[in-house]
Amino acid sequence: MTARKMPAPKCPTCKRDVLPRQENPSFPFCSTRCRAVDLGKWLGEEYRVADRTPDEDEDGLMPPDGSSGELH
Ligand SMILES: [Zn+2]
Repeated sequence: MTARKMPAPKCPTCKRDVLPRQENPSFPFCSTRCRAVDLGKWLGEEYRVADRTPDEDEDGLMPPDGSSGELH
């Protein structure tokens, strides 16, 4: 008997496993982001939605003038 389950589908964008349609509003993509990426690809944007998180406060931590360097 070949009553095996279908293998999990892979996201066309990032090739990860995709949740079944019932649990995944973005099916057949793994996430809304991947769906947007694929859509953007078709619109000629070629992966403009980069897979990086915005690091906003990386530069906001240091004081503008390194006044903390004058230890006594
Ligand atoms: Zn994906």
